[in-house]
Amino acid sequence: MFVLKGIEQLENAINKAKKIRPRVEFGSFGHYRVSGSKGFYTVICRKDERGYKTVDCTCKASERGLPCYHSAAALSLHIGLARRQQTA
Ligand SMILES: [Zn+2]
Repeated sequence: MFVLKGIEQLENAINKAKKIRPRVEFGSFGHYRVSGSKGFYTVICRKDERGYKTVDCTCKASERGLPCYHSAAALSLHIGLARRQQTA
């Protein structure tokens, strides 16, 4: 799990996601499944009780608090959906 402070923090992960192009499956708002080297990982994007945006992925990198490319891929979908919700 990591706290999302800015997009620059995700730059490497985004570049990796662009190269690998994982499949992102929508579960519900804030809840995604992203394909990885060993099957699908679950990515959860949410705001915690202090208002921090947190991203949780079930892969090893995320367990160590690193932004992974699964999170980057899920976030690009999540951010688009969040914008659409705000303008709806
Ligand atoms: Zn991951």
